Amino acid sequence: MRLGVIADRLVLIDGETAVDLEQASKGRFPADPAQLFDRWEALVDWAATAELDGEKLPLTGLQNPVPAPRQVFGIGANYRDHLAEASGRTMEELEEFLPKDPLIFTKFRNSLAGPADAIPLPSRDVDWEVELVVVMGRPAERVSEEDAWSHVAGLTVGQDISERVLQMAGPAPQFSMGKSFPAFGPMGPVLVTPDSLDDPDDLELGCTLNGRVMQKSRTSDLIFSVAELIAYISTVCPLLPGDVIFTGTPAGVGAFRKPPVFLKPGDTLVSWVKGIGELHNPVIAGHSYTDEGTNS
Ligand code: ZN
Repeated sequence: MRLGVIADRLVLIDGETAVDLEQASKGRFPADPAQLFDRWEALVDWAATAELDGEKLPLTGLQNPVPAPRQVFGIGANYRDHLAEASGRTMEELEEFLPKDPLIFTKFRNSLAGPADAIPLPSRDVDWEVELVVVMGRPAERVSEEDAWSHVAGLTVGQDISERVLQMAGPAPQFSMGKSFPAFGPMGPVLVTPDSLDDPDDLELGCTLNGRVMQKSRTSDLIFSVAELIAYISTVCPLLPGDVIFTGTPAGVGAFRKPPVFLKPGDTLVSWVKGIGELHNPVIAGHSYTDEGTNS
């Protein structure tokens, strides 16, 4: 099943068209994306056999499919090649420095945005991080790795946009603040259930900046897999339906390039996970943006 949101209403996607969920289900399921997970299992059962008649809508104007999660988790240093570039170590040197547990932060909810929304820059130190995003479908408290996927509603594409100076400022890093400016969490374009993908643990993901490939990897290279992340987080924070997990980014971010590359007004950032879809985010100057910054 592929679900989206158009004009603030839930839609079911069938190829290149969509049908309004509330209309197609004759009112059985809601239009409001905030209520998507109230009857998630009934929706999955119904959609498996439903005849999707009703007005066919063009697949345009897709919005964030999960605009109001109760909790948003982010994972740092979760691909070996990204940890190597960030730490300046070779892949061989890396093995003894691998984290023993996932590194967790939050993106505050107001940073979430849609798949085509503009990203306003607060400074000249803003970077990209394409990520697979997991959306929970059932509560998960102290779940095992074996059971973890059964609690997932679906997957989508995310960008964990990051202001690197604030992220690393102070005596302890400020990951959650540096990654939570407005529109620093574009998501979408659709929510895809895991059964719709050949192997939800091995998906190609990547991003281009102005057409140039900056990141390209596979989720099979995650240090902590989706199941391991859910099991670990749920030992501390019970996960709720609709909660969102940004699972980490592979190598190729701007800050560790030589010389570094950061986002500028006028850029276009395209991010994809194969089998799910693409984000197309234009980059614009924010209110506090000036041409003077820490990089030149
Ligand atoms: Zn990230």
